[in-house]
Amino acid sequence: MKILVIGGGMAGLTYAVIACKNGYDVTVAESNSRVGKKISVTGNGKCNIGNARVSPACFNGGAIVKRVLDSVPVAEYTRFLNSCGIFLYSDNEGRMYPLSDSAANVVDCLRYQIVKFGGKLLTDATVSGLSKTKEGYTANIRGKYCDFDKVVLACGGRSQASVDVRNLVPSELLTPMVPSLVPVRIKYMDPTLNGLRARARVSLWDGDRLLGGSDGEVQFKEYGLSGICVLDLSALIARREVKRQSGEYRFVLDVAPFLEEWSLEEIVYSRLRAGEKDKLFYGILHNKLAEHVVRRAGKDANSTQIAHTAKNLEFLFDKLLDWSMSQVTAGGISERGVSAETLQMPNGVVAIGEILNVDGICGGNNLYFAAASAIYTFSRAEREKAFSLS
Ligand SMILES: Cc1cc2nc3c(=O)[nH]c(=O)nc-3n(C[C@H](O)[C@H](O)[C@H](O)COP(=O)(O)OP(=O)(O)OC[C@H]3O[C@@H](n4cnc5c(N)ncnc54)[C@H](O)[C@@H]3O)c2cc1C
Repeated sequence: MKILVIGGGMAGLTYAVIACKNGYDVTVAESNSRVGKKISVTGNGKCNIGNARVSPACFNGGAIVKRVLDSVPVAEYTRFLNSCGIFLYSDNEGRMYPLSDSAANVVDCLRYQIVKFGGKLLTDATVSGLSKTKEGYTANIRGKYCDFDKVVLACGGRSQASVDVRNLVPSELLTPMVPSLVPVRIKYMDPTLNGLRARARVSLWDGDRLLGGSDGEVQFKEYGLSGICVLDLSALIARREVKRQSGEYRFVLDVAPFLEEWSLEEIVYSRLRAGEKDKLFYGILHNKLAEHVVRRAGKDANSTQIAHTAKNLEFLFDKLLDWSMSQVTAGGISERGVSAETLQMPNGVVAIGEILNVDGICGGNNLYFAAASAIYTFSRAEREKAFSLS
């Protein structure tokens, strides 16, 4: 069987490895000059390839995620990676990395497997058209028409993409697509905070409704907020935008998360009494952040108000930043656009990876889903055969 895999990212390469090892005639067409470009930038170049604690709760929900994760648990994914020569360790938050600590090395391993088992890798090869024929499909690759028995669409999302991934998907199957895991622009951002980093407990509100919370390091930018905890919360806004829901969003930061409010208030109170107004947060907050808190609390604020401000620092959401800053795409081919059993669209093309309307929070979940959705489409026997070859 002649198979065309459109896209040489985590999903496409995983699919190609297993298909090659099962003796299929596989061609991967990748529009970039090299495969695995996005894999190479994950985990700051170390490749955060999965998460040992992955669960449907890490994603935007839906039946497909659950089915894929049930079918491809961590042990199964690990077997796949091991069979490609990729061995793993996990950190204390479950984030999985290759022993090489090198994303480039992961791409090398996957690429080597494909070549070793007879697959073809075409780079600078954008697939610009696809049509169904009586026998299979005709694809336009680099302006040349080529026939295939089966097509797998692994073209990824719009985040940092060099081609418009919507071109090959019938528009009625697509939801709106929105940048996710992305920094946020804040209204009236205080420029003096630019460049600061602070540990915080961050919560996201829509009016009076709490949408979610996350702990971690917040990065203050001249435009707004970033950092993993902010990116994770951006996903909640992005998923709502996919459903065309808007909101009056605000990020509320507890910038002294390790102190109870009453305890912070006591410290501030005693320092105020000692006439140390300019030293209220010494040893607790960065000076610039402390000045910001005091300013926000107001000129004549008392210890209660100042401590409360530090524990509830509000930032008004303006908008999500654009595709060039986003790590993942919210939206894509809708659940109704593919069969949950086969991930086939009505035209028979199999869709895997980020082009599906599945997005996960930071920590390896998105690479995991990209690969797991590819593995999911193979039978037990095909998987066993592939995993036994290295
Ligand atoms: C900066 C950054 C950091 C990230 N960090 C992490 C992380 O630490 N952990 C994690 O799990 N996830 C991370 N992600 C997300 C993760 O990289 C993606 O979710 C994952 O790579 C998606 O895999 P994919 O194969 O579905 O799509 P992609 O990796 O996007 O691959 C799709 C490929 O298809 C190609 N293509 C598209 N259209 C065509 C066409 N018409 N013809 C030919 N080729 C085409 C594209 O060029 C692309 O190479 C990060 C993403 C970014 C941008």
